Parts: sequence; structure tokens; C-alpha cells
Amino acid sequence: MIDRLTNETVELLQALIRNQCVNDGTPESGNEDRSARLLRDELEGTGVDLQTYEPTPGRTSLIARWPGTDPTAPSLCLMGHTDVVPVSPDGWTNDPFGGELIDGEIWGRGAVDMLNLTSSMAVVFRHLVASGRRFPGDIVYFAVADEEAGGTHGAEVLVRDEWDALDCEFVLTEFGGIPFYSPAGMSLLVTTAEKGISWRRLTVKGTPGHGSMPYGTDNALVKAAEVVRRLSAYRPSPQLDELWAARVKAMGLDDSLARKLLDPGALDDAIAQLPPEIAGNAHACSHTTFSPNVIGGGVKTNVIPDSVTIEVDVRTLPGEDLDEVDAHVRAALGDLYHAVETEIIKHDPSTSSPTDNKLWETLSASIAKAYPDALVVPSMVTGGTDARFFRNRGSIAYGAGLLSKRVDTGEFFRRFHGHDERIDIESLRLTVQLWLDVVDNLWE
Ligand SMILES: [Zn+2]
Repeated sequence: MIDRLTNETVELLQALIRNQCVNDGTPESGNEDRSARLLRDELEGTGVDLQTYEPTPGRTSLIARWPGTDPTAPSLCLMGHTDVVPVSPDGWTNDPFGGELIDGEIWGRGAVDMLNLTSSMAVVFRHLVASGRRFPGDIVYFAVADEEAGGTHGAEVLVRDEWDALDCEFVLTEFGGIPFYSPAGMSLLVTTAEKGISWRRLTVKGTPGHGSMPYGTDNALVKAAEVVRRLSAYRPSPQLDELWAARVKAMGLDDSLARKLLDPGALDDAIAQLPPEIAGNAHACSHTTFSPNVIGGGVKTNVIPDSVTIEVDVRTLPGEDLDEVDAHVRAALGDLYHAVETEIIKHDPSTSSPTDNKLWETLSASIAKAYPDALVVPSMVTGGTDARFFRNRGSIAYGAGLLSKRVDTGEFFRRFHGHDERIDIESLRLTVQLWLDVVDNLWE
């Protein structure tokens, strides 16, 4: 059976990749309608209740619910997004939308983010429904549009407006089950929390004048350069919680370095000693970060500019809201804080789910079945996922999945939004088995 379901996952994954639901952030992109129709066709005829939602033209999401036998039992939602990020085709060895099977790997955009999970969830869901087997709780399959641009045309609006259809205690989505190797052995990271997003647009004002006489002028671009420099040099104090302690343990470092990573005073020096491929993630998991990423301003080569805007990608830690972000910006800019107008582009605080519940117990036991000697580690992702909308409604949501030993953490992150994205069939098989094991044991 597992071979048949794995083969079906391969075929569905190939079809989803070939649908090219590329989300460039504009409302006209994505066209997830194609994949929503494909998935509806896959599930139709099984007798399950299927609904599609199109909050924005072409941006269709699908919800299917397989009712349980006990209305008081917790329900489980398997959520996969159908959109993918754009590609730079020149960097690819094979066609990014070919969905080709080459040496045991399926190639294409979305192969690890997250059409691998979306397809395996659909295949397992169809298998459960088709078998006629009923579980105590409802099982919901949610194929959602627009994850890659923040969920405006997908999870954000559907969780808000269609909660009757989505209502669930437990959610599994991207991403987790990624092997991480250290001298102490193998760990598998499972996402239980994500950083907050708090983007800001800073407008720096100056006084216009003739570019031929710069002496003593109030040039907004020169001031903006200093604002950017200060933001980039800003070093907020670290915040070290139990997720950080679990991450440090998983790194399996020598005692002295591990101790420093747990000491707020020594942490920044210790991060500098980590290999570059994990230092950036370690820094982001322990600090609020500020990345000035867009600048705009100036009108003409010979005109001193009077206005420059800077967009800053701020990512917050648990417990930080608007006031805390403002305090950071104030501390970073110092005396320039009052020279800058600050506008909020987007603000979603960090979210997390506890691990003292049946879903965590079942999920970690199911992962341990595949990798008995590995440590299953709750972890925070630095980017945003649709899990946050469910956590804000009170659901417990984890990022899961299971990868083979061919894909370690470094390789996973190289492929994630990168060139030559691909997934091996063994990883698909492990993931299919994981979903089967979770539903088998969740209500035991
Ligand atoms: Zn994703």
C-alpha cells in the first residue's frame, strides 16, 4: 500500500509542479485555480464534502472535511499551500516546471516548499476517505492559495471568514522532519513556533536644493544612509527561551561553546564561531532582526532630495508587539529617530504552540518510528507560514513532514526558494507514512 500511495504522490506532485502556480506577490499571479481544480478532481467521487473558495479571482482554495464519529473528539487539519515562489531559470540544471523524475528525485519549483507535503496530504486524505474508515475526530484537507505572499488571498481571509469549514484543534503544515546532523547524532526539527513579521516604511525628510552646492545642506539621502547604517549595526539583546535551549542541545556542540550560546552575554561571540550555514539561522532564532531591504528617493542628478523611503524587514521574537518594535527602532536610530516618519507595512506577532498535547506526542512518536535514534526537537522558523492564522484562532499547529537522510538541514535550505529545488522519492514515502501513522494514533 505504501508503494502505491508513494507513486500516487509522485504523480500528483509532478502535476502540481507543472501547473506553475507562481506567486510574485501581485493579486493577478498565483492562478492557484489550476491546482484547486486538479485537487478537486482527485478527491471528487470519494463522497467527501468538497468546497472551493475564490476570495480573489483565480486564487482558489479547496477545503474537504471527512467527518468523525465523536463530535467531542479533536479534529485534525492537513494544510498545504499550492502556490510557489518565482524562479531564476538560468540557475537551474533542469526545467523548473518540468516535474521530471531524474535519478530518484522529482525536480521543480515547489518540490520542497511545499507541494511535496500538499500532494502527500491529498493522497493520504483520499486514501482514508476511500477506505470508508471513520476516525473519532474530523479530518480536514485544506489546499490553500497565496501562502508565499502572506495569505492575503488565502489563509488569512479564509480562517477569518470560513471558520465553520476550517474549524480544527490540530493543524499540520510546513515544515519539519528535516535531518540535522551534529557530533552528538541526528536530530529532526519540527516547527512549533514562528517569528513575527513587523515590516516598517521609514520616510526620511530633507530640504531640496541645487546639487551643485551640497555644502551644509539637509540631504534626505545622506541622512537615510546613516539610518540604514544604524539599523544594520543595531544589536538588540538576545532572548533565550526553551526553544533556543532545545536548538542548542540539537547542535551537539562541545560543552564550552554550548554554554556560551546559552549565556546572553557571550552569545554573540559564540554565534560568530558557528559554521556560516547555521550561524545566520542561530542568530535569527535568538534575536529580533532588522534588514533594510528597499530604498527609494531622489528625483534628478542635480537636485538635492527632500524625501527618501526605506523599507525594513523586522522579524520579532515571542512576546514582542508594536511597542517593543517601536522601542527597538528608537534605540537603533538614536537622535535620528525624530527625523524619521515610521509607517507600519505589516504586523503579525510571533506565534507558537505548546508541546504538552496528543498531537505532539503522536507526531514525535511517528517520526521516531522512522528514525528511532534521532532526537525530535521543537523549533522556531524565522519566516512566516499560514500556521499563524490557526494559532491565532487557538489551534495547535506544527510544521511537519519527514525527509530522507539524503536531505540534511543545509541542503533543505539551499533548495528552499533556491535553484535546483527537488525531492527524493524516499522522502515522499517517509512523509506519506508519517501522515498515516499520525491519523492512526492521534485518537488512540
Ligand atoms: Zn511554503
